[in-house]
Amino acid sequence: MPNRPSLHAVESGICYVDTVQKLNNSYITGKTQSLEWRKTQLLALKRMLEENQHDILQALKKDLGKCETEAMVAEQGFLLSDIDHTLKHLDKWVKPRKVSTPIVAWPGKSFQQPEPLGTVLIIGAWNYPLQLLLAPYIAALAAGNCAVLKPSELAEETSSLVARLIPQYMDVSCVEVIEGGKEESTALLACKWDHIFYTGGEAVGKIVMSAAARHLTPVTLELGGKSPCFVDKNTNLKVTARRLVWGKWMNAGQTCIAPDYVIVEKGFEHKFIDAVKKELKKQYGKSALMSRDYGNIINHRHFKRLESYLDRVNVVYGGEMDETRPAMAPTLVLEPSLDSPIMKEEIFGPILPIITVNNMDEGIAFVNDRAKPLALYAFSDSDEVLDHIISRTSSGSVCTNDTMMFMTNPELPFGGVGNSGMGSYHGRHGFDTFSHLKTVMKRSFALDVPFRYAPFSKLKLSLLKKFL
Ligand code: NAD
Repeated sequence: MPNRPSLHAVESGICYVDTVQKLNNSYITGKTQSLEWRKTQLLALKRMLEENQHDILQALKKDLGKCETEAMVAEQGFLLSDIDHTLKHLDKWVKPRKVSTPIVAWPGKSFQQPEPLGTVLIIGAWNYPLQLLLAPYIAALAAGNCAVLKPSELAEETSSLVARLIPQYMDVSCVEVIEGGKEESTALLACKWDHIFYTGGEAVGKIVMSAAARHLTPVTLELGGKSPCFVDKNTNLKVTARRLVWGKWMNAGQTCIAPDYVIVEKGFEHKFIDAVKKELKKQYGKSALMSRDYGNIINHRHFKRLESYLDRVNVVYGGEMDETRPAMAPTLVLEPSLDSPIMKEEIFGPILPIITVNNMDEGIAFVNDRAKPLALYAFSDSDEVLDHIISRTSSGSVCTNDTMMFMTNPELPFGGVGNSGMGSYHGRHGFDTFSHLKTVMKRSFALDVPFRYAPFSKLKLSLLKKFL
């Protein structure tokens, strides 16, 4: 298929057709099919991450005020263990996946053969700017694809670091980093890709999907949404508060799977709030804005957006801000109006609304009345309560009695459902996302029973009915 840009790209004057063509040319040489090449590239990426730890941590600090531990665990460390896991299992993942063969096709063998898709586009988001760009790249590499990586322009230090490092370590005939914002993304989306993997908000997700539709390109959309957190009154409140604080205020709440709001039964809210306040002081001190472990808001536009959420709501804890950084302290809001922006939009920041319900079923109905979330959390001592919530709600992932920990298991696919996205990755699921599982049936010339060939007869038909 010729790779012609659409009108949109022509309008901006930016065109990446030559870039895509260059990668396609490398792809058709077959070099990425080689398992050896893939492993060498994965090891080169690993070296890149290890040898440049200092610069990586600095870039993340400048972009998001990310503390060293969070940067090492959720970005660099996450990627290193993803590479190790991939290298450990790749020999198995590339193998044909055998299935049985019906008698009519005997003698024969049936299997699915993973094959690379070709040249793929990976568009990253700013909140985990390294992880969200390179984790899909690890999967794309492992599956034997060429790739263009488009980091988020909002995390500009990380973006330029990746653009500088990738050509130093990787086979540049098979990967390119393209920096930029809307115009560059639009021009990239105008090209024909073999897959587009996008992480970011819903509005741009729709733009990506309609651009992909012009070329019938498959997409993975890793989107967001409001992830609810149920807290039952019968729960280990101390551990609940500790794990909730960890998951909500990591990266100053700018995590796609952070709990967006909490649902508790009426009468329990003050006990819950006291426990969270106590834990916040324990983890971030009296003033989180003074803590070196507490991050910044990505930019002033997002800071202003978050600030506006605090208009006419009942702030029961926090609310301190430092516009120069910019940063906002962990903030608890009790019973905001359900029509307020804070309950209508994804917060994606350090504000936690608490809403009360008469019982958990009312909470379940509340969640089911809204778009399907990316993640859902439930804390309770009762397995019955937890199972009830799991079975009566729909979300990309569920985690009980903890937050975000499912991300540590590469055996679990990560992705959304409904408005929180489509497709998934991590571990073998990422490899499969960037592979075509080609159906193969291998037949032999032995035993050519003629009953399926014309001229047909009643006998042939009855035999066909029996065996098909
Ligand atoms: P963003 O602003 O970094 O945008 C994401 C990407 O889209 C960037 O690379 C950007 O350049 C590109 N982009 C922006 N405008 C575009 C346009 N008009 N056309 C084409 N591309 C365009 O990130 P964001 O959207 O602010 O990200 C926040 C959202 O992402 C939240 O909803 C969050 O929940 C979600 N998110 C999801 C995941 C996940 O893994 N599911 C991870 C992180 C963030």
